Amino acid sequence: MNNELDPHMQEVVAYSAGTTTQDLIDFVLEKSPARDIHCAVCGHSDIRFIGTDEQVFVFGMPALLTDSPNDKRQYMVSVGECFNCGHVHLFAPNTVSEWKRSKNAGGDV
Ligand SMILES: [Zn+2]
Repeated sequence: MNNELDPHMQEVVAYSAGTTTQDLIDFVLEKSPARDIHCAVCGHSDIRFIGTDEQVFVFGMPALLTDSPNDKRQYMVSVGECFNCGHVHLFAPNTVSEWKRSKNAGGDV
């Protein structure tokens, strides 16, 4: 598999550098109406967000079929996995990074 990234995807990766796993958790908590984290399928609260204290992990889902042949674009996602039912929650890392930057700048998101 070719790991080359579309320039826009490289920008998304660079923009998300330094966004931590705790940032993603804080983002989800703030955006959740109940201010709590529950699985979208089973309602369980044991969700494991993938990453470290230094960096939330960003995964690239390659496109297999699009309107362009040999499309190398990837869909960037960060992941939270339910330990009860296995449902994988996908989050756009750039949205979390934008929220963090705005919050750090004193903005109301
Ligand atoms: Zn679940």
